[in-house]
Amino acid sequence: MTSYPLLEVDGLRVALQRRGTAPTLLDGLSFAVAAGQCLGIVGESGCGKSLTLRATMGLLPAGVERTGGQIRLSHQADAAPTAVPAGQAAGRGLAMVFQDSHASLDPTTRVGAFVTDIVRRRTGASRAAARRRAVELLAAVGVPDPALRFHSYPHELSGGMRQRVAIALALATDPRVLLCDEPTTALDVTLQAEILLLLDAARAERGLGMVFVSHDIAVIRQIADVVAVMYAGQIIEAGPVADVLDRPRHPYTRALIDAVPTLEGPIGRFRPIAGAPARPGRLHPLLPLQGSLRPPGRGLLGRRARHRRARRRAPIGLHPLLLRPLAQRPLALRPRAGGHMSALIRVHSLVVDHPVRAGFLRRRRLRAVDGVDLELGRGEILGLVGESGCGKSTLARAIVGLATPTAGGVLLDGAPVPRRRPPGMRRRIQMIYQDPGSSLDPRRTVSQTLAEPLRRTVPAEKIAHRARELLEMVGLGERQAHALPRELSGGQRQRVAIARALAVEPEVLVADEAVAALDASVAGAVLNLLSDLRERLGLSVLFISHDLATVRGLCDRVAVMYLGSIVEEGPVARVFARPGHPYTRVLLDAVPSRDRRRSGTAGPGPGGLGGVGGVGRLGGEPPSPLDVPPGCRFHPRCPRAAARCGTSEPSEERRDGQRVWCHFAWRHEL
Ligand code: SF4
Repeated sequence: MTSYPLLEVDGLRVALQRRGTAPTLLDGLSFAVAAGQCLGIVGESGCGKSLTLRATMGLLPAGVERTGGQIRLSHQADAAPTAVPAGQAAGRGLAMVFQDSHASLDPTTRVGAFVTDIVRRRTGASRAAARRRAVELLAAVGVPDPALRFHSYPHELSGGMRQRVAIALALATDPRVLLCDEPTTALDVTLQAEILLLLDAARAERGLGMVFVSHDIAVIRQIADVVAVMYAGQIIEAGPVADVLDRPRHPYTRALIDAVPTLEGPIGRFRPIAGAPARPGRLHPLLPLQGSLRPPGRGLLGRRARHRRARRRAPIGLHPLLLRPLAQRPLALRPRAGGHMSALIRVHSLVVDHPVRAGFLRRRRLRAVDGVDLELGRGEILGLVGESGCGKSTLARAIVGLATPTAGGVLLDGAPVPRRRPPGMRRRIQMIYQDPGSSLDPRRTVSQTLAEPLRRTVPAEKIAHRARELLEMVGLGERQAHALPRELSGGQRQRVAIARALAVEPEVLVADEAVAALDASVAGAVLNLLSDLRERLGLSVLFISHDLATVRGLCDRVAVMYLGSIVEEGPVARVFARPGHPYTRVLLDAVPSRDRRRSGTAGPGPGGLGGVGGVGRLGGEPPSPLDVPPGCRFHPRCPRAAARCGTSEPSEERRDGQRVWCHFAWRHEL
């Protein structure tokens, strides 16, 4: 019997709506997806991945139109797919899961009512039957207490739970093909692993076809059977995952794979792709399988361009530490091997409470940070990792003075930091946020943005000059100086945010998920920049991230946080090679590998506690900080918990510079 694909996209072309020559955004894409098959689409931001899904679904944004190609759909593998008119594919067997679960849910409607409504519209079932079906769907996607959660509003659910509800919504339409647009990008590693498992199970049970878009090659390796690599609106290489990712033929695919940091490779520099991506429609037809990838340095400056500019302009009047000759750089401060260095920031017994509403007229205190002791050395990069909601960002905000400690405090260079910090002290610690777009004023050009903090320390006639120097330091030039934030790429905006933080000559940078929204190549360039700045300026950096591979590549030491407390801390190489706490082990096992596929649902991973398949043994989401479990706070989810773990709090165990809070530290290695 002939078997047909469920979805066929043939020569898809999409362009901006303009008079005259309309710029092409997607240039003749063709692919097919069979029942039970997952096609992964991978590429850098802006290459057209998400647009491909939207064009297939018929959900193109205003000002963009399909100018060619066909979309064909079939409901069964034994029936030939038939063409669907442009804009009418949604609801005809296609459903979509978005990166931002808020985009799928109505904030004013209880999630159960929303799912019920879709089931009723889809099947014409009675209200009672549709409600039953909605509860079944919530249960099927792993929402705990589905009958109870049925009545929750989206804002009352955690990020992972909202993504589960978004998947339930997509499944409520009974699709044949599921289009997933970066559905795990905003999630931490354990939630990411759970959502991947959930999607994989839905595909296997229902025989769904799936198109999974991601900029994360490791995620694509976990979930996809075949992969298409996109560049500038075209597919430049495609084939079975093992062929394309293990033996890439196109130099761009190779470079894309090399840009992804791993837990297994050597620790050191990140490997971003040089230059800026070509614009869609401008890809040279001979580019595939030739040596050169990109036109030389536009946007992110190439090394040669930087070098030429550096020779044209001497760095006069810059950060005093920048003027040191190379030999005097504070390289010796780096404690990669776990050596001791003087602490610039010392956090001691820090407690931060937030008042929260707990019912009508009732308020409780939520303990976001619970007795944290931590040090950040001069010229050191300290990584802070843990699941969403574990208190990482609150700790960071307390260090920069944006959250008021309930008890304990922060010492800067040995002096207690008062609650109302004088401007001089505030200047010494600067913060970089995840979304530079929201922290930059959209109406100000880059040079105006930099001029504002400079006004406090630099004479008026020297501000423009100093702003130019700062831009040069972060690899930007004259062209970007006059641009508004919306005219810059994500990586360029993050560089501007770093330049603005450096404008006040800080000693400490606190980077809160500063590269989480960037693809691996752009993130690699920003991380190399941070590393260079540490080397050149002796900056100390607190680097908060849910990406453990990046932390391993960038940081000297790492602290692992769980439910408001540090559970393990030490030199990054030792902690990642021999984690002493079961939670660290689980986090490491949940990281998808760029180079090998994990064993899926088959059972425990290489560390003995999980892998993607073993993460379920964590026992779901972390408990609420309002109800911290007695004894070891990790015990309800710990795969190694024993009777005493539920009653007595573990004390600190030390080994080779590592500190671990577990009754059975390192014992799970046995
Ligand atoms: Fe697990 Fe017990 Fe160690 Fe806590 S103290 S991490 S529950 S083994």
